[in-house]
Amino acid sequence: MTQFKILITDGLDESGQSILRAFAQVDDRNNISADELLKVIPDYDGLIVRGRTKVTASVMEAASRLKAIGRAGVGVDNIDLDAAKKHTITVVNAPMSTTLAVAELTFGLLLALAREIPRADAGLKQGKWLKKELEGVELNGKTLGIIGFGRIGMELGKRASAFGMNVIAYDPLISEEDIKQRGAEPVSIQDLFGWSDFISLHLPLNVQTRDMLGPLAFSQMKDGVRLVCAARGGIIDEAALVTALNSGKVAGAALDVFSVEPPGLTEAVSHPRVIATPHVGAQTVEAQSRASEDIAAEVLSVLQNKPLRWKVS
Ligand code: NAD
Repeated sequence: MTQFKILITDGLDESGQSILRAFAQVDDRNNISADELLKVIPDYDGLIVRGRTKVTASVMEAASRLKAIGRAGVGVDNIDLDAAKKHTITVVNAPMSTTLAVAELTFGLLLALAREIPRADAGLKQGKWLKKELEGVELNGKTLGIIGFGRIGMELGKRASAFGMNVIAYDPLISEEDIKQRGAEPVSIQDLFGWSDFISLHLPLNVQTRDMLGPLAFSQMKDGVRLVCAARGGIIDEAALVTALNSGKVAGAALDVFSVEPPGLTEAVSHPRVIATPHVGAQTVEAQSRASEDIAAEVLSVLQNKPLRWKVS
């Protein structure tokens, strides 16, 4: 039997690694540098990454044996898909594995924003009883605008409906009928901006969506809107967000993702009305083990010429 060689560069749960080891030599080089990756990649048939490793055209140029690149998660924006195509390297991901984890984190961020839970906790830890300042708002009866109504958006919508929210969604790639069937009212982006009390982003980062929430979008939103982004950094223009927070246009924002990660103490991160988490959307025990098992099986399918479960477009 062929013994494949697979390199893992951003860590992978043991359950997935053991699936790989039945068919391959597995090298776990967590946090490998970009230079070192270029040096070692010619030895490998498969490469498995999460979001940290940038799989650039130069990496693929050097990767003479590489047949499969697996992303243990959803977003493949750290992989140069055009270069992969050129070098006939198949890119696979594990799109179903992290959906519930991200939807639950997003819902937690909605509640945290509505009731200022992090500020309440931080106050008490500094010996302050902020009870009078901490009058929040209820989710019940409010309109939640979801931009991008795919897997995560839809799961968030279900949870928001159960909390009595009115769920509207904008997704130009899904038919109005499908959006309704998934439990939301389809709307234009302008109506979503104009009607939403809360807005949550669940779309990919690409040339069309970069800086989609900039000064113009903020000017079309309701005064006092609250925003959540656990999709990808770069979709919100962070400088424009800070301006909108300072003017009171945006009452609060919760960000799990940033245009540069880690972001350091940027104005957005340190803003008193921003709740910031370090890209932990998929960080649950269940999601990580699902992602590792799904991606292990998918990368082996590429190497063994078996049918794939999902297609990266
Ligand atoms: P998905 O592909 O199921 O859904 C994305 C949706 O966005 C699709 O329905 C698509 O039609 C829609 N879309 C594309 N372009 C759009 C546009 N210009 N305007 C509005 N909608 C648009 O993906 P998913 O699994 O739901 O993931 C959604 C996002 O969450 C992705 O950006 C993914 O990278 C991110 N994500 C983040 C974390 C995290 O740790 N925070 C983890 C997993 C996924």
